[in-house]
Formats: sequence, C-alpha cells, structure tokens
Amino acid sequence: MPGDGAKARAIKEADLDIAIIGAGFSGMYMLHLARDVLHLNARVFEAADGVGGTWYWNRYPGARCDSESWYYSYSFSSELEQEWVWSSRYPAQPEILKYLNHVADRFELRSDMQFNTRIINADFDDHDNTWTLAAESGEQVTTRFVVAATGCLSSRNTPDFKGLDGFDGDWYHTGAWPHEGVDFTGKRVGLIGTGSTGIQATPVIAAEADHLTIFQRTPNFSIPARNAPLSTEEAAEIKANYAEIRAKCKSSDNGFPFEVTERLAKDFSAEERDAIFTELWDLGGFRLLASSFADLTIDESSNESASDFVRAKIRGMVNDPDVAEMLLPTDHPYGTKRPPIDTDYYDAYNRDDVTLVDVRRAPIVEITKTGLRTEDGEYELDALVFATGFDAMTGALLNMNVTGSGGRKLGDAWEAGPRTYLGLQIAGFPNLFTVTGPGSPSVLTNMPVAIEQHVEWIADCIEYLQNNGLTRIEAKDDAQEAWVDHVREVADTTLFPKANSWYVGANVPGKSRVFMPYVGGLTLYREKCNEVAANQYEGFAVSN
Ligand SMILES: Cc1cc2nc3c(=O)[nH]c(=O)nc-3n(C[C@H](O)[C@H](O)[C@H](O)COP(=O)(O)OP(=O)(O)OC[C@H]3O[C@@H](n4cnc5c(N)ncnc54)[C@H](O)[C@@H]3O)c2cc1C
Repeated sequence: MPGDGAKARAIKEADLDIAIIGAGFSGMYMLHLARDVLHLNARVFEAADGVGGTWYWNRYPGARCDSESWYYSYSFSSELEQEWVWSSRYPAQPEILKYLNHVADRFELRSDMQFNTRIINADFDDHDNTWTLAAESGEQVTTRFVVAATGCLSSRNTPDFKGLDGFDGDWYHTGAWPHEGVDFTGKRVGLIGTGSTGIQATPVIAAEADHLTIFQRTPNFSIPARNAPLSTEEAAEIKANYAEIRAKCKSSDNGFPFEVTERLAKDFSAEERDAIFTELWDLGGFRLLASSFADLTIDESSNESASDFVRAKIRGMVNDPDVAEMLLPTDHPYGTKRPPIDTDYYDAYNRDDVTLVDVRRAPIVEITKTGLRTEDGEYELDALVFATGFDAMTGALLNMNVTGSGGRKLGDAWEAGPRTYLGLQIAGFPNLFTVTGPGSPSVLTNMPVAIEQHVEWIADCIEYLQNNGLTRIEAKDDAQEAWVDHVREVADTTLFPKANSWYVGANVPGKSRVFMPYVGGLTLYREKCNEVAANQYEGFAVSN
C-alpha cells in the first residue's frame, strides 16, 4: 500500500482478456461475440477433442434432441439458419454435432480453441483482478475474465455400486459413449436409469441386444415425440417464417415457439380436458405440457388430470398389465421432473427379450463378476449401461476447484446449495460469469434461447466495463441473497419441488436439496437482466 513502506506490486498484464471454458452451444457463441464483435483476446478451453459439448459426449443409441430442430439452433445469424438443412423434426445426435461443427468452421472458431484441455483449477488474484486457470496438463494461463460455459448437464453421475470394478463385462455411461459405437448384438444388456436418456436408449438397444433388462427406480411420464423427416416444403416454410418463430421463442417463458394458453383445467369438464390432452398427445413432444393448461405445474388437480391421462395411455400401450403397472409414475406430478419424450419406448416392453426390474422395491445390492444382484435376485449380464444422468447445474463448476476473492472456495460458498445473482455471477467470485448457471431459467427452457440471452448479456456487460475503464465486476451479497430468495419463493408456488428430481439435486447422494433453475420464466427473467444492465449493473459492484 502506498505510504506503508511495503513495495507496491505492479499490475500484471493477463495472457488473455477472456477465457471461455467449454465448446458447446454456449462457449462457441461466447467466443464469436468476444473475439469477432468485442475484438477481445479470447480463447476457449475444452476437455474434449472437438466442439459440441452435450452432442460431442452423448453418442448413446437413440440419442436425439427433444426440442424440434428448427428452433434448437442458433438464432444470431440469419445466413446460418437459412443455409443449414435439418433432416427431421427431432434430429439425432450426429446431425446436431455436424451442425455445431459447421458453425465452428463457418465462424472460424477453431483457431482460438484449445481442445483436450480440462481446467482443474481457477484462482482469482485480488491484486491484479485476474484469474489463473490451470489445466490437467499443468499448463497455466492468466485472464481478465472467465466465462464458465461448462454446461448444466456435463458432469456425469455414475452411482457408486459395490463391485463395479470386478465386473467381467463392459460398462458404459451414456454421457461418455465410445465414438466407435458399441455392438450389442448377441449380448445380455442391463440398463440402469429411466430418465430421458434411458427412455431414448431402451427401444434402440432392445432391438439390437439378445436381451435387455431395465433397472427402474422411478417410472416417468413419457410422451411420444412423433418424429418424422422434414419435407422440402416444411423446411421452406420454416425458413420463410424464421423471424416469427425466433421472436416467439424469445418472448416465451420456456424458449419454445408453442401457442401459450391461459386456460385453467378447472374450467373444463373431464371430457373437454381429455379432448385437449388427446389433441396435444397426437401432436407429440412437449406440447402437452406447454400448451394444455396454464396451471399444470401449479395446481395439483390440474396436474392430476394430465398425469391420469398419461397413465391411461401407458396402460393402453403396454400389453402385460403387471409391467404397465410398474411403469406408472405415482411419486411425482407430471412435468416436475425433466419430461422425457420418446420413440416407441413403451412398445419395447411388449418384446419377449425385454425385462423390467423394479429397483425401488428391491434395490440393487451390487454388481457381480457376471451381472447385477438386487435384493430379489441375480441378473446375468454381458454389458451394463448407466443412463444415470448428471450432477446437474453445479457439478462442472465445482469440479473446477474455483477459488475467488480472499481465498474463498466455491465449494464452501455453495455448501448448502448454489447461490448466484441471476445465475450469471457468484458473490465473492469477481469477473467470473456462468452461462445458464443455477438461478437462471436454463434447463427449464429450449436451451439455445437461454444460452444466447446469457452470452449476449455477458458480452454487453464486458463491453460496458471496457467502455468505462472498469476492470472488476462482482455480484453484491445482498443482491444475490434477494435473488436466491426470489428463486426459491417462485419455485415454492409451483409443484416442482415436490419431485425428487435432478432439478433439486436428488439424484446425487449428499447433494443439498435446492430447486436450482429459475421457474419464473424467460420473459420476466430477461426483463430483469435488461433492467439490471440499464441501471449500470445494479446489484453488482464495479470498479477498476
Ligand atoms: C442427452 C441430452 C439431451 C438434451 N436434449 C436437449 C433438448 O432436447 N433441448 C434442450 O434445450 N436441451 C437439451 N439438452 C441440454 C443441453 O445440454 C443444452 O441444450 C446445450 O447443449 C448446452 O450447451 P452448453 O454449451 O451450455 O453446455 P455443454 O454442451 O454441456 O458443453 C459444455 C462443455 O464444457 C466442457 N467442460 C466442462 N467442464 C470443463 C472443464 N473443467 N475444462 C474444460 N472443459 C470443460 C465439457 O466437456 C463440454 O464440452 C440435452 C442434454 C443432454 C445431456
């Protein structure tokens, strides 16, 4: 400090203006804006050896988007959306990965991306207002800003089953599927998990394997996707109406261009409700949830009518009444867990070579040399598939061992669950931004819409700092506390917290139970973010 006799340490120039961690939808767009619009010295660090994020890692059989192709895509370039051709309503993983590779080439992103680089440490220096990132390889880099584009669903959750190491067969996690694929022909396969991923994988693995045994803890409400190729006429119509489709997504609460309804279930008779559900069931996908009744995720009786409707459909699709009964979800309201959509999921249970095992009634005890043992019996298996999801929303951030201002550890700050201001920053961790962080609408949306909103907000924020000669931005504690309270209060007005979902961290043993995404809707959320920016970044401390 001047005057105290100590020698002032000179401010060091950082290697980078901005380090972006992750090369999925978020990191790629962030690089484009940071480098090509703001002209910053920017670099992406990615653990994988290519771009794509979710769509790089999740190559399991049946992996497919649940958002329709034409709006599960970037909206920032009309040339891009006009030139790209989607083959079907719900594209499979290889097609989305191809799209993201095309984006990387088209915007020449690769030259500023460093692959095979996992960041394992991030330390903030209060003196220089810079971050030092350390990679697994030992490489270090300093940067003024960090954008964690590390993904909400990128940190795999593999349950710690006794005996897995001694299993003689092969085992796979759907979120790290071998690039060369897996041939299950002639194999007895066990699949653990019946969330969105397990539901997509089941019919495809069933068709290939000698026998598929599905170990189910929680039955889910799955709606048929009704996937189909996109005809040239349909594609042309979408392209002609892109401006309208994007505007609808952006002004919606969930990033989907669906018709919004004000209808309340209680105002309709049981027959009328059934007719509405049937029409939306026939259209397929998320429409039943999004467009049937406005109070579906708020009002128990409204939800029960939808839940009953889906349960009746499941009974109608599964031939064996005992198996159908096991597949009926009864422990959570429809839509309060990530709603799966499927192609022929329930049909798979009508095959002779598919067995459903209820591991809530008789839990898994251990993986044996030759298979899997539950409290009820032993299953001989040649291969095991873990469709057990992710340490959602916080896993990838906590894995980076982040140390903020004054030596504060992110792990300590989030011990009782994640706390953020707007899901964009964390008090005590200056100059670190999170894309679709906890406390933002994120996983409750068609994510490219939420991602673009965040990336654009972050870019505008950095531009503001640059223009005003500011070098440091940090969420204030009181603003963060108020936002955390608001996120919780809004969630508590809904049925969401009732479910043991990954939204509340229930799938990871020991994780604090907090409803992590913001359920107040993208529209309100966007307005709040815009207002904060318009008021000179209200709720943030900015300085140089
Ligand atoms: C199977 C599956 C299906 C999905 N389907 C849909 C859907 O239908 N609709 C929808 O809206 N969303 C869907 N999602 C959510 C999907 O994750 C988002 O839509 C979107 O792809 C997220 O992009 P992202 O760039 O934010 O994160 P990601 O795509 O997850 O990318 C994050 C990247 O960061 C990298 N990374 C993480 N930590 C580090 C580190 N420490 N060092 C270096 N690199 C790191 C990871 O390797 C990864 O490549 C799905 C997710 C999954 C898993």
